[in-house]
Amino acid sequence: MSAIDQLPSFSAGARTMLGDEVYGALQQSILEGTFPPDARINAGELARHFDVSPTPVREALARLESDGLVEKLPLRGYRTTELLDRRGLEELFELRLLLEPGTAANAAARRSSADVAELSKEVTTGRSAIGDANAYRLLSQHDVRLHDLVFRAARNETVRLAYTRTHCHLHTFRLAYTGAYVTDTVDEHAAVAEAISAGDPDAAATAMRTHIERSRDRLLQVID
Ligand SMILES: [Zn+2]
Repeated sequence: MSAIDQLPSFSAGARTMLGDEVYGALQQSILEGTFPPDARINAGELARHFDVSPTPVREALARLESDGLVEKLPLRGYRTTELLDRRGLEELFELRLLLEPGTAANAAARRSSADVAELSKEVTTGRSAIGDANAYRLLSQHDVRLHDLVFRAARNETVRLAYTRTHCHLHTFRLAYTGAYVTDTVDEHAAVAEAISAGDPDAAATAMRTHIERSRDRLLQVID
């Protein structure tokens, strides 16, 4: 082994990148249903499939466990979690309705000009994804970024992290991996972004509440 192979920064960097790739590929497979709910995951087979050592696979599985997409079985590896049921979905949206309208109002009161520019750019990105062959995936990513921008503009990291830790987007995307309703979603995001940019807390809260209630109703239709 040459000296450069033993440099800690080199090996640490390569290992992290590999873990990220394995994590990304596995997460996508679970969201799309290639790995269905309640399926056993064999870490050794994954390592052989990706042609990597067990370490990045173990790292990826630990991150997926923290996402709530897999769970560890005592002494028997991992399995994918069950999909959210109706009750779980209703509870998740109840939490979002408690957090997000108030956060949108705070964002309208506290937003900077940089926040306004980023929100506007994100709405444009969302619109450009409509009609794309990968529309659902692109719009899923747009949705995560849009809501995160609102939390960031509201300048409350405690609230933002409480929301992030629910991993609500991952679980709802996994539930409804279809291309439906994308135009409505971007229109609703645009209304939220416009009210925040206008500095109108009441309008921002109303637009966000409307968006979350409609998202909830669209998802309930899918699972019923
Ligand atoms: Zn949204």
